[in-house]
Amino acid sequence: MTTIVLPSTDDLRKVAIDVLARMDVQLEEGGGVQARTPITGGRLFDLAATAPAAVDDTVQAAHEAFLSWRTVPAPRRGELVRRLGELLRVHKGDLAELITIETGKIRSEALGEVQEMIDICDFAVGLSRQLYGRTIASERPGHRLSETWHPLGVVGVISAFNFPAAVWSWNVAVALVCGDTVVWKPSELTPLTSLACDRLLARAIEETGAPRDVHRLLLAGRAIGERLVDDRRVALVSATGSVRMGREVGPRVAARFGRSLLELGGNNAAIVAPSADLDLAVSAVVFAAAGTAGQRCTTLRRLIVHTDVVDSVMQRLVATFRTLPIGDPFDAGTLVGPLISRQAYQTMRDALETARSEGGEILVGGGRRLADEAPDAFYVEPAIVGVSGQSGIVREETFAPILYLQTYRTFEEAIALNNDVPQGLSSSVFTRDVQEAERFTAADGSDCGIVNVNVGTSGAEIGGAFGGEKETGGGRESGSDSWRAYMRRATSTVNYSGHLTLAQDVTFS
Ligand code: NAD
Repeated sequence: MTTIVLPSTDDLRKVAIDVLARMDVQLEEGGGVQARTPITGGRLFDLAATAPAAVDDTVQAAHEAFLSWRTVPAPRRGELVRRLGELLRVHKGDLAELITIETGKIRSEALGEVQEMIDICDFAVGLSRQLYGRTIASERPGHRLSETWHPLGVVGVISAFNFPAAVWSWNVAVALVCGDTVVWKPSELTPLTSLACDRLLARAIEETGAPRDVHRLLLAGRAIGERLVDDRRVALVSATGSVRMGREVGPRVAARFGRSLLELGGNNAAIVAPSADLDLAVSAVVFAAAGTAGQRCTTLRRLIVHTDVVDSVMQRLVATFRTLPIGDPFDAGTLVGPLISRQAYQTMRDALETARSEGGEILVGGGRRLADEAPDAFYVEPAIVGVSGQSGIVREETFAPILYLQTYRTFEEAIALNNDVPQGLSSSVFTRDVQEAERFTAADGSDCGIVNVNVGTSGAEIGGAFGGEKETGGGRESGSDSWRAYMRRATSTVNYSGHLTLAQDVTFS
């Protein structure tokens, strides 16, 4: 085995300082928020957190900015997002370095995350000329019936650690062209990436002359997120994170009749049918299950394989998992970086232990790597666990690289297994049988928000609406017509007939 040399925390701090300087980010040192890196587990900076008392002023500033921003023509609002996209192109490498330092994501995936931000900016700029309403046939002569979409208000964005920049951009790019303003409460685990995103957008705001407060950042933990959730001036709370978080946030927003867009956890499955191209299926499964060290909401967590091909699939997967390069995410050869924290590692160990106690068999992986070189960092071998049913731990999302493998005989059974979990984010089938492919995507097929054929569960494009059903929260963001969640609809009837005609032939005289 080759020796892996990890960078030191000091090395990473120096990289962060250079990158932040290139993006013109000034760090305000203080207390309350720590910037750390899972590559070594070390602390990079102590940063000043937003004071709880400042939340009120921040939301008020965003609300006042909304009052003018909503009247700026949408294509002009698009110019701000276009400028953000240009700055992201210039600083793609810089931002990706911060993402790798703070999340441990490998370089290629971090660059992919920034590319996704650029893509959504392009999408939103186009959208700024396509916020279409519609004209509806009126039943009354001399009347025009129409629908118009108007800006909604302040959008509170709460985001998770694992996509610290892309999820923000999905929300901010679309919200800004829709005429909304944004207050962002990012994950407390990724403050540097948040400061860099905020700074790039602030530059775009300065350069295009948009109101300064169309975007505000709250650098703090969960308690500040709760204040944002409860604030009546926040018209929409777009919250991405665990089901636990969604369970708390959803009812609080509903209690004040606010709108929420929830993007919560997944427990994603793939079916491998006997006709599948096994080379393609295995490659897709490895990326979906082990990529990002299992820390994507769309990570493949359950593999449902036909009994005819299970031996072959299992052998190939086990052999590939054994040789996965695990280590420094900056190293071009690495495919699996560290878990985010000690707690994440403990959760993975507990899940494996529970799986074993429930009759599961660990087929490969599960061990810790590089513990001597970096005792505070948590590098793990992605695991495959053979299970005979879908009870207990298999029904939960463990945010770590554990793939539960089970078998099926009939396609009906496979679909039932796919659907028989509380979450409903992403799903895949690998098959060359057109009837199976169509059935999986049909009304009585997969019940998830993302339903793929011969494509893994993770790595969605921004053009489609992203999100899932059941405990995943039901929200949709990013492409397609997700923008409608960020606007309010006005239905207007205009009477140009000169006579008063009541609908449904009602007479009142
Ligand atoms: P988390 O739920 O711990 O935290 C997410 C965010 O919510 C953080 O900013 C946190 O401070 C905030 N938060 C937590 N409780 C809150 C509360 N009561 N009120 C207000 N804010 C609160 O999630 P995490 O560990 O950062 O991320 C991993 C989870 O996110 C996984 O479950 C993953 O599946 C999910 N996720 C979902 C999507 C999606 O689009 N569906 C995308 C990325 C991540």
